[in-house]
Amino acid sequence: MAEITCSRCGETKEAVQNTAFYRGEIREKLRAHACQDCWGDWIKMQIMLINEYRLNLMDPNTDEFLNKQILAFFKLDESSDVASVDYVPPAE
Ligand SMILES: [Zn+2]
Repeated sequence: MAEITCSRCGETKEAVQNTAFYRGEIREKLRAHACQDCWGDWIKMQIMLINEYRLNLMDPNTDEFLNKQILAFFKLDESSDVASVDYVPPAE
């Protein structure tokens, strides 16, 4: 059982094991930063989002939407994390 510091609740807990249909890079991030309890909260949130936006799970745009939502939920969205954003000066 891997213990991680959860990026959402800030506590050191058991990491999420089964990340459902989240794969690749997102799956790695979740397993490194998301605890099992917050994952449970996310699942409820995801159901709400699916109902609210009438998401079609067969639609690739739905994946993209949920990927963004889950990264924001677990505060893993790098575009909103100032410390991890490298400033690239515009080319002359
Ligand atoms: Zn947590």
